[in-house]
Amino acid sequence: MPEAMFDRIALIGIGLIGSSIARDVKELGLAREVVISTRSADTLKRAGELGLGTSYTLSAAEAVEGADLVIVSVPVGASEAVAKQIAPHLKPGAIVTDVGSTKASVIAQMAPHMPENVHFIPGHPLAGTEKSGPDAGFIGLFRGRWCIFTPLPDTDAEALSRLKIFWEALGSRVDEMDPQHHDKVLAIVSHLPHIIAYNIVGTADDLETVTESEVIKYSASGFRDFTRLAASDPTMWRDVCLHNKDAILEMLSRFSEDLAYLQRAIRWGEGDKLFELFTRTRAVRRSIIEAGQDVDVPDFGRHALDKKA
Ligand code: NAP
Repeated sequence: MPEAMFDRIALIGIGLIGSSIARDVKELGLAREVVISTRSADTLKRAGELGLGTSYTLSAAEAVEGADLVIVSVPVGASEAVAKQIAPHLKPGAIVTDVGSTKASVIAQMAPHMPENVHFIPGHPLAGTEKSGPDAGFIGLFRGRWCIFTPLPDTDAEALSRLKIFWEALGSRVDEMDPQHHDKVLAIVSHLPHIIAYNIVGTADDLETVTESEVIKYSASGFRDFTRLAASDPTMWRDVCLHNKDAILEMLSRFSEDLAYLQRAIRWGEGDKLFELFTRTRAVRRSIIEAGQDVDVPDFGRHALDKKA
């Protein structure tokens, strides 16, 4: 077993992200002790059954006692409440980080409560699925994926470097960004696509001229790809929308303008405009594959379906 990087890690929240971290930490032997805390007795019990940690408690305050690294993996709207609970119990010198999908809001909620003698370093692993809960996690979720840190101006360089080494051990590529910039980038690459998916699936669900059975039956076309995103956790995505409001609204208004352009091109039969856009967007897809952020095979469950057939 490799030498443990931390004596004690406390995981606050043990859903998809928390439990994936727990599984990797165990597999890689990155900590001697892993204390797990979550809000509900049912989730805590399940984490125990899955053997995700070395001890378990419903009290976040108790969990962080003596921990060298604390990772908060709860919906972003719960960040302040968690920060208040853990703050008086943090070990001096501890690193406190999070995995929240929005950063400016998490910093505003957590930073004011953090004692001066701990290192609060906000983070966001760009990895996930549409599933939630402790059963949804798996070893290797973060492998080859980016983890972005949005350090505060006074963040200790050594603590940041230690946290980066931890995420690199999980297989992540690490980067740093200003929190506002992070929120803008994520608004376009993640938040807007989810909102569009929620909207299109909602529209299809509302259509009276097309029955629900037709929507399901013929979903092998483009619609199916949207349903995967639109199946994402409602609590998490409600919080993302409410806590990255400005950047999302800015991107939505850009999106609406561009959609109006597309609408007009279709109405007036401007095929050259459509062709130019569709050619440009195809090149974006190629760049993503070349950057190793996806593979050039249709997926979204089709592989598993093929195997089943
Ligand atoms: P999840 O699977 O739904 O798990 C959420 C965890 O937070 C559970 O342990 C849950 O506890 C706890 N929790 C829920 N509401 C809470 C509250 N009000 N107060 C305290 N604890 C609460 O969520 P997840 O997908 O792991 O997401 C966790 C964080 O990671 C979110 O901030 C999300 O933005 C971020 N993130 C998610 C993804 C993704 O694709 N899912 C990717 C990157 C980052 P109980 O079950 O005990 O109620």
